Amino acid sequence: MSAPDLTARGESLPLARPQVVVFDLDYTLLRPGDQFDAPGYVRTGARFGLSLDAARWPQAERAAHAAVAARREETGLVHDDQLLAVIARTIVEELGGGPRGAVALAVRAIIAAWSEAGSFGLYDDVVPCLEALRTAGVRMALLSNALGHGVEDIVAHFALDGYLAAAVSSLETGAVKPAPRMFSTLFGLLGIAPGDAVMVGDSLEDDVSGALASGAHAILLDRSRRYRGLAVPRIESLAELPAALGL
Ligand SMILES: [Mg+2]
Repeated sequence: MSAPDLTARGESLPLARPQVVVFDLDYTLLRPGDQFDAPGYVRTGARFGLSLDAARWPQAERAAHAAVAARREETGLVHDDQLLAVIARTIVEELGGGPRGAVALAVRAIIAAWSEAGSFGLYDDVVPCLEALRTAGVRMALLSNALGHGVEDIVAHFALDGYLAAAVSSLETGAVKPAPRMFSTLFGLLGIAPGDAVMVGDSLEDDVSGALASGAHAILLDRSRRYRGLAVPRIESLAELPAALGL
């Protein structure tokens, strides 16, 4: 996949007030629990006799990103139930791995945990942001590449239903962001034109490029401040979102 031209739109903050704000789920609203960071992987590995090395986490993360990209090259932009196993196995192997059976058990435990809504929390800035947008009369929706945990489970677990006009996951569409079908399905459900929506998410490719390519607007949520200086509308916390939308 060629690199997207993120500067093409030339937009800067604040954007014009949208009809709908579309949120990504994982790492945007949903904060994965500590079992999915380096010490968590080490703890899970230890349950199955593996000695994983937390110091290798940065290279494990890079390897997981590369494995996802390679897998997407193979499958195209389709919903892929095996992707979670690819990610977990790559990280376990890169942290040191071990006997095949023990690695398989650790991977299975990680997948099981990722599939539980209770393994996640909402970031502290989520509910105040949703409240502010609702008060301002802006509709909200979810657009998620569901992996393991279903969007409906998450909405129910965190009582988000009252905030949302619609939610679409890759499980329903069979496609994954940045595929145009994900965006057009949601906009069709909402009865809006793409230009009436702003996508807010942590992924430059899936959320920002996908939204821009579909004709929507986009704001990158850069919680880890990795993308400073990038010529794309960008916030570091959802606390900044109302002002970024001119509200
Ligand atoms: Mg995300």
